[in-house]
Amino acid sequence: MNIHEYQGKDILKRYGVRVQEGIVADTAEEAVEAAKKLTEQTGTSWYVIKAQIHAGGRGKGGGVKLAKNLEQVQEIAGNIIGMQLVTKQTGAEGRKVHKVLVAQDVYYPGESETKEFYMSVLLDRATGKNVIIYTTEGGMDIEEVAEAHPEKIHKEYIDPRVGLQGFQARKIAFNLGVEGEAFKEMVKFVAALYKAYDDTDSAMFEINPVLKTSDNKILAVDAKVTLDENALYRHKDFAALRDTNEEDPLEVEASASNLNYVKLDGNVGCMVNGAGLAMATMDIIKLSGGEPANFLDVGGGANAQTVEAGFRIILKDPNVKAILINIFGGIVRCDRVANGVVEAYKNIGDIHVPIIVRLQGTNAEEGARIIDESGLKVYSAVLLKDAAQKVKEVLAEQNIA
Ligand code: GDP
Ligand code: MN
Repeated sequence: MNIHEYQGKDILKRYGVRVQEGIVADTAEEAVEAAKKLTEQTGTSWYVIKAQIHAGGRGKGGGVKLAKNLEQVQEIAGNIIGMQLVTKQTGAEGRKVHKVLVAQDVYYPGESETKEFYMSVLLDRATGKNVIIYTTEGGMDIEEVAEAHPEKIHKEYIDPRVGLQGFQARKIAFNLGVEGEAFKEMVKFVAALYKAYDDTDSAMFEINPVLKTSDNKILAVDAKVTLDENALYRHKDFAALRDTNEEDPLEVEASASNLNYVKLDGNVGCMVNGAGLAMATMDIIKLSGGEPANFLDVGGGANAQTVEAGFRIILKDPNVKAILINIFGGIVRCDRVANGVVEAYKNIGDIHVPIIVRLQGTNAEEGARIIDESGLKVYSAVLLKDAAQKVKEVLAEQNIA
């Protein structure tokens, strides 16, 4: 689950990570009040207005702007709130901005230069360890750095059983070339960042840029945080951090019905019980000349309600030209699933795409009979190869494959 920059920074602060301070606002007027408060709290006279969306690259897309007085805060916040912000990570349609973070300007001049670094903590599945990835080339696109200067990207692996060791934090600070007070600050920053990542069971904390200020403080200017959904039950308070504005509406609807649904770009919708079978079914769709329109795992107990909820979600995707239902009757009986399909079909009415139902397992033959005798535009199959052949035929009828 992704969260906003301002929420990520709140978490970081709780663990003692120094951050660029800010106050979130929903309107231009609130942004002005936020700016006044921020000046009381931090003494800042300039502000940075930052669009809060779940995507990076906001700066280049025009979603991060400097304001030098309250009039500019009002004007810039007014422009950014409500805009459709397009960045490298949003796709061409962009994301609507609902909130801005009014942040203190931390690039003020001083005794030494400011310097931007990159640092992220994530799980490395290959080694089964956590890894801190960092480079002196912060602020810009990390993918570009990885391409042009792979040698400048450092990785520090951390054994989760022993945690981050002091020497590792010092090595990172050393490799980043910071000295004196900034070195001590960086060591503390790394330790606190790792603790925040570890304690919250997160999948990723990415801080780009990590800033060395002109007075040698180290702070997080940005925070991109992905919480591990499988661990959310251990952090009940994180549920409030979810922002469904940022999610695909069909995925939101599916999660409300406890369905594992991921929208894809293809033309054949599928509904399957079990993630492995779902993957195999997507392969079969491709082999039949179609493209999967989604991944949908209805779980072990497929019943009329889950089948209907799945149907409704798949049918809302205008790209869907055929639906393949592939259910293995292990825990659930095929005749019950078949009845569920027929019932759901009748409840929804007006289904305009051909449906192929492949039922295998307990009472498979009876399931096929129920489908065949329903009088609906639903085709049954027992063998997966027959189902694939049928998908091919219905696509060919529509001149698709
Ligand atoms: P992103 O573009 O979505 O990654 O958003 P960031 O939070 O990283 O901000 C983008 C850029 O805005 C940063 O790389 C900085 O160059 C700039 N920026 C952020 N905070 C400040 C600030 O306090 N003062 C100034 N002058 N620039 C800032
Ligand atoms: Mn950034």
